[in-house]
Amino acid sequence: MKNYYELNEKTVIEYVNNKLDFFAEDAIYECKEIGDGNLNLVFRIRDTKNDKSIIVKQALPYVRAAGEDWPLDINRGEIETRILKLEHDLTGGLVPEVYLFDGDMFCMVMEDLYDYKIMRYGLMDFEQYPKFAEQISDFLVKTLLLTSDVVMEHKKKKDGVKSFINPELCEITEDLVYTEPFHIGARNNVEESIKEYHETQIVNDKELALEVAKLKFDFMNNAQALLHGDLHTGSIFVNQNHTKVIDPEFAFYGPMAYDIGALLANLIMNYISTEARCEDEELKRKHKEYLLQTIKDIVNLFKSKALKLWNEVVTDKMAKTPGFKEFYVNDVLVNTAGVTGCEMVRRTVGFAHVKDLDGIEDDIKRAKAKMDNLNLAKIFIKNRNEITTGEDYLKLIEKYL
Ligand code: ADP
Ligand code: MG
Ligand code: MG
Ligand code: MG
Repeated sequence: MKNYYELNEKTVIEYVNNKLDFFAEDAIYECKEIGDGNLNLVFRIRDTKNDKSIIVKQALPYVRAAGEDWPLDINRGEIETRILKLEHDLTGGLVPEVYLFDGDMFCMVMEDLYDYKIMRYGLMDFEQYPKFAEQISDFLVKTLLLTSDVVMEHKKKKDGVKSFINPELCEITEDLVYTEPFHIGARNNVEESIKEYHETQIVNDKELALEVAKLKFDFMNNAQALLHGDLHTGSIFVNQNHTKVIDPEFAFYGPMAYDIGALLANLIMNYISTEARCEDEELKRKHKEYLLQTIKDIVNLFKSKALKLWNEVVTDKMAKTPGFKEFYVNDVLVNTAGVTGCEMVRRTVGFAHVKDLDGIEDDIKRAKAKMDNLNLAKIFIKNRNEITTGEDYLKLIEKYL
C-alpha cells in the first residue's frame, strides 16, 4: 500500500495520462465518479473534443457502502483484472477490454461501455434484450466448463485454484448469502411489514436451514470452476445486440451453480417487480413473457451447450464415460435451483437488497412482492432435486407468483 492513494475526479486524469497514451494533446476533459456499487470507485474520463472516453476502477481498502470500519482485502482489484483478461479470451469478448492494471494503485483502466445499459436498470424500465439468453449462456458455459477439471490439465487447474484464492470476498458471500438471512439480526435489513413473515417462514424453518447448510458447504468446498462470483443483473451491461459482463472481483474457484443461480434469481425478482410496478397492462404482459422465455432459455441453453461443448473439449478419461456428462450437468442444475432460492432470500432480507424489490413504491404491493419472493425461494431450495429444466422454473413461477 506504499504508493497507494485514493483517486478523485481531478487526480485521476493526470494519473491516467502518466500511465497510458490514450488521450490526445488537445483533449478537453470531463470526469465524473459514476460508481453505484457497494465497494469501489469508478471514474469516467471523457475527452469532449475528440469524443473519446475511458473507465478507471479503483479498489478501496474498505467497503464503500459501510465506511472505513469495514476493511476489505484490496487485492480483489488484482483478481478482477486477471479474470477479466481470461474471460475475454474464453468468451471472445463478452467482457470489457482492460487496458491497464496498476498493482500499486489497485486500479484498472478499461473500455467505456457508454452505449450499453446496466441490465437491472434496463429491466426496471421494462426493456427487453432478445439476444441476452443466447449470449449469457455462452458466457456461462465457456467460463465455467473451460476452467473446470473436465477440460483443464489437473495440475494447471489446481494452480488456478491457488491463484484465484479470494478468502475475504468469499466470506462476504458465506455470511451475507448463506448464513445471516436465515437468522435474526446481524447485518440483515428486513422491513417492518415482513419481519414476522421472515421469522416464521424463513428463520424458524429448520428443514430449510438444513438445505441451506448443504448449499453453503457446496459453495465453500466445491472448487469446480472459476466463477464470476457476483453475477447479478447489476454486473451485466446490455443493449439490443450485445452483452458484456463486468465486476468479477468476487471471482474464485467454486460451484458453477453459484453464477447461474445468482443470474436466474435476479431475473425472477425483476418478474416480481414488473408485476407490482408496471402500470401499462400490455407492456407488463410483454415484459413478463420476455422474462419467462429468457429464464427458460438460459437454463435449457446452458444444459444443451454444456453437453455439446463437453464432447469437443473434454480431456479427462473418466469424464468421457457414457452417462457422466449428463450426471455432471444435472448436478450443476440441481444446485443452481438451490442458489437461486438463496439469492432471492438474501436480496429480500439480507444486507444488500435489489432495487427491483425495494423500488416498488406501494407499501402493500412491496410487502406482498417480498413475501411471494421468499415463499418461492423456499420452494427452489427445498425442491431443487426436481428443478433441472427451464420448463421446471416456468411451472413454479406461474404457480406461485
Ligand atoms: P462495484 O464493484 O463497486 O460494484 P462496478 O464494476 O459494478 O463496481 O461498477 C459500478 C458502476 O460503474 C457500474 O454499475 C457502471 O454504471 C459503471 N461502470 C463500471 N464499469 C464500466 C465500464 N466498463 N463502462 C461504463 N461504465 C462502467
Ligand atoms: Mg458492481
Ligand atoms: Mg471511446
Ligand atoms: Mg463489485
